[in-house]
Amino acid sequence: MHGLAVTLPGGLAENGSLQRQARFRRLTGKVEQALIDLNTDLDRPAFVTAVLAAALERIGDQPADSKRVDDLCVADRQYLMLRLAALIDGEQVWLKVNCGHCKALFDVDLSLDDLPVKPAGPSFPLATLRIEGRALVVRVPTGADQALIGTQSEREAMMMLLQSCIQSVDGQPPAREYIRALSQSAIEGIDSALDDVSPAVCNQLLVVCPECGNKQQADLDHYALTGLHKYFFYEEVHTLASHYHWSEAAILDLPQARRRLYIDMINRSAGLHAPGEAP
Ligand SMILES: [Zn+2]
Repeated sequence: MHGLAVTLPGGLAENGSLQRQARFRRLTGKVEQALIDLNTDLDRPAFVTAVLAAALERIGDQPADSKRVDDLCVADRQYLMLRLAALIDGEQVWLKVNCGHCKALFDVDLSLDDLPVKPAGPSFPLATLRIEGRALVVRVPTGADQALIGTQSEREAMMMLLQSCIQSVDGQPPAREYIRALSQSAIEGIDSALDDVSPAVCNQLLVVCPECGNKQQADLDHYALTGLHKYFFYEEVHTLASHYHWSEAAILDLPQARRRLYIDMINRSAGLHAPGEAP
């Protein structure tokens, strides 16, 4: 899928319906600048929320503010980060892999739109299950849930996640003591019910090391916005400002594609050409 409009694999559950359409802002220099200037000290969930809130125009028929971006499920947020990466830098990316066998470093060519996306189950974002004779309704974790967990220990994070995601037990809000007393197998049951209903974006790729020939799974980081480089971005703005004497504001209003087109023309008239390109 290309362009600004995307269909979420899950969707934002609001007022009893699912908002599955989202729309990115037009990628102008101003949007890129907002993304480049984001505070990188934020923890991962807060950073992803800030990025998506800056880059998205709408989710469903309402503006995409931080609160609504927070309320998207984890897979929707990953999917949106992936689509944003493709908007900024194209569908083709090079994945750097460090071979787990011979330690060689190699690059793998990957097309982002080829990555498999598992759709949500019909009851998304809720799953119902029976555990030890009791009926549970659980909700797929969101960005807000991840943000809440922060730097808690693994056990405490799990308890907080269960507290957020268990909606009811036999029709009643869950008691804290009930959640604390859940057995390991009950927790695994909840986890697997959530996996069934949750969408998922493939985050591993089977690769073959060109040095030793061993197959292995390479991890993909969907949250890494590798296409944004502060220096190169401002270098482009500087080149246009020096050449055409446009104001910074006017240059930042240009869509990225148009800015690149002018850069290309300036380079051509200066006799510079991209590697491998005919003069
Ligand atoms: Zn190897």
